[in-house]
Amino acid sequence: MSVFSHIEFDHHEQVVYGHDQASGLKAIIAIHNRNLGPALGGCRMWPYASDEEALRDVLRLSRGMSYKSALARLPLGGGKAVIIGNPHTGKSAALFQAMGDFVDSLGGRYITAADSGTGVAEMQIMAERTRHVAGAGQREAFGGGMRNGDPSPSTAYGVFIGLQAAVKHRLGRDDLKGLRVAIQGVGQVGFGLAQQLKEAGAELWVTDIVEANVRRAVEQLGATAVGQNDIYGLEVDVFAPCAMGAIINPQTLEALRAPVIAGAANNQLADAGLAEELRRRGCLYAPDYAINAGGIIDVCYERNGGSTAELKAHIEGIGATLTEIFQRAEREGSTTTAVADRMAQERLHAGR
Ligand code: NAD
Repeated sequence: MSVFSHIEFDHHEQVVYGHDQASGLKAIIAIHNRNLGPALGGCRMWPYASDEEALRDVLRLSRGMSYKSALARLPLGGGKAVIIGNPHTGKSAALFQAMGDFVDSLGGRYITAADSGTGVAEMQIMAERTRHVAGAGQREAFGGGMRNGDPSPSTAYGVFIGLQAAVKHRLGRDDLKGLRVAIQGVGQVGFGLAQQLKEAGAELWVTDIVEANVRRAVEQLGATAVGQNDIYGLEVDVFAPCAMGAIINPQTLEALRAPVIAGAANNQLADAGLAEELRRRGCLYAPDYAINAGGIIDVCYERNGGSTAELKAHIEGIGATLTEIFQRAEREGSTTTAVADRMAQERLHAGR
């Protein structure tokens, strides 16, 4: 299995394989770029069908983290870790202790955090073995009180800010009263977004594969429940994907009516070419890694310090970044994704 000639290699600084026979750990850590600071990115646990599949995922994700942090103006580089294993059946304290040792062996060049298949509990176990872990402690909540290290509330706040910027740019509206928003996935981020939209006077349509999550949004926020496949074709102002990736694809694109797409999900476009099709149709797409950066900003403030007010102000900067992307895309006749990538690359080069 080649690494240097891998299609996703893109000048990674370091790719390391870790194995621990006693716990069964098989993991890869990829460090893409540290021009702006130590590489920070989540540790994903997934039952990859092959080592090659795991390598491809970790390379793609770590490069994405370089871009996300650069665009969010954070003093961080991009990295990612993957553990090959089933998050439902394969977890043990020994496994995450071994993973903590693996992270520690890189001496702080890579800082880990929660991702799909891992959470605060796993970060706490890794923190027994390394200090290069984010999201393992307690944080002050925006609304007062304390919360655990889960960055989802910050992600939800950033998406809310970004959605407002997109609505202002595309629909010329300053307030969200009566704005019609369809949310796909009302989990940690989607429900947090729904709460803020409700407070701002928006009308909500929601779907989720977990019935209890739908019920919570209906009962607590007065949202209208719709079927999983009906969420795309609604006559709404905004479609907010907050569930899984690749949901903008040729099939869903045909159904989509919303002039704005602004949501938290990672890798929303099934392929990069769809950005041009969205532009052609007059649909304003808020690039996923720009609008969902609230979580990484949160993690960065936890590591480097800073008050809750400073964190909040930094997250609010997502609005200005998106507005710059939208305006530049319009001026240059380009897609929002191409402009976001260029802006991130400019910042990465400037940091060299
Ligand atoms: P979550 O698991 O809490 O919520 C996702 C929700 O989507 C769940 O309620 C799930 O049941 C639902 N869902 C899954 N498949 C669905 C489908 N086919 N149709 C409808 N609903 C479906 O996850 P989250 O932390 O809220 O993250 C949501 C998205 O945002 C993910 O794509 C994640 O990668 C991305 N994201 C999250 C953060 C964060 O801080 N949590 C940061 C950046 C990006």
